[in-house]
Amino acid sequence: MQVLKLGGSVVTVKDEPMTADHESIRRLAEEIKAAWPTPLILVHGGGSFGHPVAEKYGIADGFISERQLPGYAKTHQAMIALNSIIVDALLDVGLPAISVTPSSFIMTQEGRITSMNLEIIGRLVVRGMLPVLYGDAVLDKKKGFSILSGDQLSVRVAVGMGASRLVFGADVDGVYTSNPKLVADAELIEHLSLENLESYIKIGKALTTDVTGGMLGKVEETRDAVEAGIEVLICNATKPDFILKALRGEPVTGTVLTA
Ligand code: ADP
Repeated sequence: MQVLKLGGSVVTVKDEPMTADHESIRRLAEEIKAAWPTPLILVHGGGSFGHPVAEKYGIADGFISERQLPGYAKTHQAMIALNSIIVDALLDVGLPAISVTPSSFIMTQEGRITSMNLEIIGRLVVRGMLPVLYGDAVLDKKKGFSILSGDQLSVRVAVGMGASRLVFGADVDGVYTSNPKLVADAELIEHLSLENLESYIKIGKALTTDVTGGMLGKVEETRDAVEAGIEVLICNATKPDFILKALRGEPVTGTVLTA
């Protein structure tokens, strides 16, 4: 079984609120179709759908005032809208894709997943379906509510389901020595062992989040998957056929993280 996480930066136009990247979604649906049949669970991020609403209402900070309640619902609603577009594209190419709502079966404590029943997803996969999950606004046992990232979710699903491979499709080729969008001579790290991963996280944490972007958090999340013996690959989903090759287990430029 494989888990594929498609970044919000891949499936949406990041600078334009509530704008899906339809072309990219359609191409990726075709690539998944070409790799099918394969036991697969898809997770996608929020990009310009979930993030702006969640930020406006401070959902990640937890419940502070009644005024946030419509924001919690609106964040979820924005994610449903994006999820619908993605599931429709998968259905259009003939894949048995089915939306699964994370906030209806997952709770967090201080932002970390504490309860999650994987039986339904497992049975869907065994039946030959393609469950499609997403980063979501979820109930949090301490903070009231929180934001569950697609990155944390995909790792927990991969570990919980005993997946053999976890593929992250990002808008860059993989993990670089520094942010490739800001530093011209940043170099791609093609292989990160668990040991190197720890020092990468340490170095990254000393920098500002502006510099590390989402990649440091992603690498940090993957630790549990790597420790569980899952092969983790971060590659560029904006480049045609990279996801197809990754799902087929063929070599593709990117960062492989292994124990
Ligand atoms: P996604 O939306 O795909 O989940 P994020 O936007 O959260 O991904 O994180 C990926 C981004 O992290 C890249 O677009 C890149 O700008 C940024 N980034 C920062 N530091 C690095 C690094 N060292 N290597 C790769 N990407 C980095």
